[in-house]
Amino acid sequence: MEMEVFYQQLVEKGFQPLWKAEPLKKYTSWKIGGPADILYAPPDYRACVEVLKMARQAGVPVTFLGAGTNVLVADEGVRGLVILTTNWREVTWDEQGTKVTSGAGVPIAALSRLAGERGLTGLEYAVGIPGTLGGAVIMNAGAYGCALEQVLTSVKTLDEEGKLREYQKGEMALGYRTSIFQGKKELIVEATLALQPGKIDEIRAKMNEYLKLRREKQPLDLPSAGSIFKNTERGAGRLVEAAGAKGWRIGDAQVSKKHANFIVNLGEAKAADVLALITEVQKAAQRQFNVELETEIVLLGFQDTGR
Ligand SMILES: Cc1cc2nc3c(=O)[nH]c(=O)nc-3n(C[C@H](O)[C@H](O)[C@H](O)COP(=O)(O)OP(=O)(O)OC[C@H]3O[C@@H](n4cnc5c(N)ncnc54)[C@H](O)[C@@H]3O)c2cc1C
Repeated sequence: MEMEVFYQQLVEKGFQPLWKAEPLKKYTSWKIGGPADILYAPPDYRACVEVLKMARQAGVPVTFLGAGTNVLVADEGVRGLVILTTNWREVTWDEQGTKVTSGAGVPIAALSRLAGERGLTGLEYAVGIPGTLGGAVIMNAGAYGCALEQVLTSVKTLDEEGKLREYQKGEMALGYRTSIFQGKKELIVEATLALQPGKIDEIRAKMNEYLKLRREKQPLDLPSAGSIFKNTERGAGRLVEAAGAKGWRIGDAQVSKKHANFIVNLGEAKAADVLALITEVQKAAQRQFNVELETEIVLLGFQDTGR
């Protein structure tokens, strides 16, 4: 179906807010990415039930976007419909006050702070992670030896037909920066986490320590998408540095001089620059250490360019 026709169908049914040819660089932490044919930012997930059905019937591809802190969006943008989850901010605590069910759009760092204020431990590591809870589930986000899988108990999704499904922890194939949802075209709408009572002072101290470590080690003053490569035995950053790639630059994309597992945007970096730089770094690691560096970031929209 023509994208314009599909757009008009959505408008007629009152689905808002909607944008045509909206530049996705506005929605990614790298400040990189071409336009989405249609971007839809529903106020809550319930509106997506019908939209997903309509997209399926019309044969329109659908892509999901959280805070855009772990994605590289193609310069050509993303064809079809992009659904942005960042408005889904409902947070509900159970009676005991230790289990929280939260909308997929809640920033994981905000959830970490909320838990901390309640004297609950288990999410301190996430206080400096900039994405949404939905993105954190998909990636099984983690740091400092902890990961979401330690507290995640269940997840609700909408499948391609707009049907609500529920997964228990054992069904999610959670591993290092991976989950079953990476291979599925399902929209994560909420997740439940079980936390443990702890001591507020200790929780606060841990969070401050983690934030300090980030400020010291990460190039937080420049746009990036966090770690580029999954960790290796030797540490991906150390390996990239040992390969001599720290500071390498293509266009405005640069291997950070502060942390070699980050690629920063010095101003007008293109997705093509970032990809070319990633390839050069991978080649250097392969050549010098016979190590295959696997990317942690997710590529969106590249099918159109043959990648
Ligand atoms: C400075 C910096 C530091 C970081 N530090 C860490 C760290 O310490 N540890 C870590 O694990 N990560 C880190 N990251 C990466 C990133 O923040 C996490 O991976 C985060 O969980 C991604 O969430 P997001 O909402 O930004 O996801 P996005 O980047 O928007 O999306 C990531 C993937 O998930 C999909 N997706 C997003 N939301 C949904 C949904 N609701 N349903 C279905 N699919 C969805 C997208 O299609 C995409 O494939 C860092 C990033 C930055 C910029």
